Amino acid sequence: MPCYRCGARQTDPVRGASPWKRGVHSQAQVLICPDCQHAHDLRLDTCASCGSTALICRLGEVECRTCHAVRPAERSAGPPEIPDGLADEVAAALSRVLGRLTSQS
Ligand SMILES: [Zn+2]
Ligand SMILES: [Zn+2]
Repeated sequence: MPCYRCGARQTDPVRGASPWKRGVHSQAQVLICPDCQHAHDLRLDTCASCGSTALICRLGEVECRTCHAVRPAERSAGPPEIPDGLADEVAAALSRVLGRLTSQS
């Protein structure tokens, strides 16, 4: 996974822990390269309880690695729901077309 901010590719560390940092941005798990960790426009998601950016994004929830607070992800990964009004309009248009077709025959 490349750095979400600059797109740099992660290189394998020679030894020890990777200098790359994990974070959550727009409720998606991202990696931040060592250069970008010092940037001031990271806009990482923060924990609502302690303000930490050390978050883990899992399926449907975001967990804070500092205070272990878990909150549900606000947006689901599924397709956007069709508003009720729009569905009604489509149904009305369909019935108009179908009604015209049946009256012609
Ligand atoms: Zn970067
Ligand atoms: Zn926290």
